[in-house]
Amino acid sequence: MKAVQYRAVGAAPEVVTVPDPEPGPGQVLLKVTAAGVCHSDIAVMSWPADRIPFPLPLTLGHEGVGTVAGLGDGVDAFEVGDAVAVYGPWGCGTCVNCAEGRENYCLRAKELGIMPPGLGAPGAMAEYMIVDDPRHLAPLGDLDPVKTVPLTDAGLTPYHAIVRSLTKLVPGSTAVVIGAGGLGHVAIQLLRAMTAARVIALDVNEEKLGLARTVGAHEAVLSDEKAAARVMELTGGLGAQVVLDFVGAPPTVRTAGAVSRVDGDVTIVGLGGGALPVGFGALPYGTTVCAPYWGSRKELAEVLDLAHAGAVDVHVETYSIDDAPLAYERLHEGRINGRAVILPHG
Ligand code: NAD
Ligand code: ZN
Ligand code: ZN
Repeated sequence: MKAVQYRAVGAAPEVVTVPDPEPGPGQVLLKVTAAGVCHSDIAVMSWPADRIPFPLPLTLGHEGVGTVAGLGDGVDAFEVGDAVAVYGPWGCGTCVNCAEGRENYCLRAKELGIMPPGLGAPGAMAEYMIVDDPRHLAPLGDLDPVKTVPLTDAGLTPYHAIVRSLTKLVPGSTAVVIGAGGLGHVAIQLLRAMTAARVIALDVNEEKLGLARTVGAHEAVLSDEKAAARVMELTGGLGAQVVLDFVGAPPTVRTAGAVSRVDGDVTIVGLGGGALPVGFGALPYGTTVCAPYWGSRKELAEVLDLAHAGAVDVHVETYSIDDAPLAYERLHEGRINGRAVILPHG
């Protein structure tokens, strides 16, 4: 079968032919319908050899949806042909966090060498993929697979970040979304669906500011050195109760800290290498800073419920598997509006 692989440190991803996978006991074989292209892959592919936590070559793709094509021994939770979404942050399934479905915070994954598909295990950017356990699948029902695949990360990750701050997002509050890309443009829609907060989006790119407005941002502000002052002006000098930074670079985390309100939440989701010093006087009193990872199984089910309710409309650009390297190039250049999605079967 064809697969998109990261094969050598620093090299561009390549489309190669690999053996068709077979499901072992307890596993599920999926025929992949669609796989999302996440900026995290670009971050991982920029890391030096000593920072990459998995062996190469790696089949990419940590956002996947497909139809069940084969069941390993002992699997009876699904039937061949079922449409499913893959829950990506695989954990051990039995530690206290996994017992709550919070496999993104598994206590034993590292020790046991359990890694997410596309970030260690073979991923979704291939014609077929293996899912290690049926608990890592969520039924898609009649959702459009192509528009839904980004919800497994670009939806789940912002959802998890928003849930942490829900009690602060009361009517009259403000949420700032920095970076209106794949994750950010979904975050804006989730904020609008889940809260009465006013949403201010920041981006460096006019087209993305346009998308932010289209999907529900009340204000769209150019992310430059004047952005923090503009957000303070828009919030009557008080700042925002919640700031979600989907870039996480040094200038954006600075902006995030500068526009936080007293007792606000700053959540750094982006892997841009920035860090925000926390200490008395460094930030407004009571500000919490958090860098969360992905989301829980329960949260994925809730995101899919929001999709069923019509609350999110992910903007997608589709590519054939042969054009996956082009999709990565375009994402790297900031030229994808919404999410790029690879269709392994055309
Ligand atoms: P993306 O490329 O689709 O979106 C990034 C957006 O940020 C783009 O619209 C870009 O124009 C904008 N941007 C760039 N520089 C900016 C700046 N200085 N100010 C404001 N906006 C700026 O990327 P994505 O796939 O949505 O991922 C976003 C980030 O989240 C990445 O760093 C990714 O690695 C990270 N991520 C983290 C997790 C997690 O669990 N923590 C999960 C998924 C993705
Ligand atoms: Zn991702
Ligand atoms: Zn666990």
